[in-house]
Amino acid sequence: MERIDCVVIGAGVIGLAAARALAVRGHEVVVLEAQGAIGSQTSSRNSEVIHAGLYYAPGSLKARLCVQGRGTLYAYCDAHRVAHRRCGKLIVATDADQVAALDRIEARGCANGVDDLRRLSAQQATALEPALHCVAALLSPSTGIIDSHGLMLALQGDAQDHGAMVALKSPLLRGRACAGGIELDVGGEQPMSVLARRVVNSAGLQAPAVAASIDGLDRVHVPQARYCKGSYFALGGRAPFTRLVYPVPDEAGLGVHLTIDLAGQARFGPDTEWLEPGQPIDYDVDARRAEGFDAAIRRYWPGLPSGALVPAYSGVRPKIVGPGEPAADFTIQGPDQHGVEGLVNLFGIESPGLTASIAIGEYVARQLLGPPHA
Ligand SMILES: Cc1cc2nc3c(=O)[nH]c(=O)nc-3n(C[C@H](O)[C@H](O)[C@H](O)COP(=O)(O)OP(=O)(O)OC[C@H]3O[C@@H](n4cnc5c(N)ncnc54)[C@H](O)[C@@H]3O)c2cc1C
Repeated sequence: MERIDCVVIGAGVIGLAAARALAVRGHEVVVLEAQGAIGSQTSSRNSEVIHAGLYYAPGSLKARLCVQGRGTLYAYCDAHRVAHRRCGKLIVATDADQVAALDRIEARGCANGVDDLRRLSAQQATALEPALHCVAALLSPSTGIIDSHGLMLALQGDAQDHGAMVALKSPLLRGRACAGGIELDVGGEQPMSVLARRVVNSAGLQAPAVAASIDGLDRVHVPQARYCKGSYFALGGRAPFTRLVYPVPDEAGLGVHLTIDLAGQARFGPDTEWLEPGQPIDYDVDARRAEGFDAAIRRYWPGLPSGALVPAYSGVRPKIVGPGEPAADFTIQGPDQHGVEGLVNLFGIESPGLTASIAIGEYVARQLLGPPHA
């Protein structure tokens, strides 16, 4: 049986960042990707926002890896010419009842080390964005936007320059923990089995299913996958804002926000639609959902012309808690947590996973290899 030092399962932004981190440390890496292209799932179905780190519980992995990852990501984009723009974002309270929520977000951001936030009155906010309606706002200058596919191509190229290989159409079927590593059965056009000394399970929405397919991993460590779909609508015509505009967050996501892509096109979303356990994923956008968008958007942009929203695309949040449950942190389990030597599982890598991707890759490499000079 062929022996490989490190196998990464999934060529989304997290798997590619982990592959890069392992390869630059001199390790042999093979990335197994089920689809015929890299990054065709959640990593290309998101808001493409570089988050500042405002929303997450202080001390959580989401907070630490977002704040650290944002700086690392901006530097990486500069060095590798990945298209991005530090355009800034306004979080808006649209009535007096929401001002307390802005206070909480500001306090949380400060506790997380986001040190450039500015509180704005309604007048100051509309001086920046004349089309905006709000009673108060919080300006986050270090929020930005990024070409997520450009980032993945850069990570792939970087990993390959350090010897890594990406095998497309190569789904992991199952694994078995054994002496010396984990045996992996790989499907696709040339099915084979390999013995990997180290395995990173970064299969995104499928990560719990992949973990459950590994014999020797106690199922107690595998969370139930919960999927929460988010649909986007594009705005026909010119974007009315130059910065991103977010309402205060709702229960499952960050609210129907306005983002602008690097070509200047505005889009709104994602909304929240929980899928039943076992319900197949369908990425179609139901045009009827625009109704809910209209009301949410008009709270901060009363000038939204009727009929201006065009169904765009959707993504699915890889959650590990269900509706009504408190938000979960990123779950990155190494051998210390689950006892299987050489295995790291990544569960619940929802937003801000794109922002934190390079930091997550480094974190995974440290879990598998120890600190750089150990
Ligand atoms: C609606 C939405 C909006 C978001 N907005 C933002 C944002 O603005 N900013 C931000 O920072 N984050 C955002 N995120 C989060 C971010 O997109 C994710 O954290 C990130 O893309 C997760 O990447 P991943 O590599 O873990 O998963 P994926 O991109 O899903 O990659 C997993 C890969 O594993 C492959 N795979 C699955 N099973 C197997 C198998 N058995 N064998 C081999 N390969 C397999 C899949 O084909 C896929 O390519 C958003 C997420 C959603 C859903």
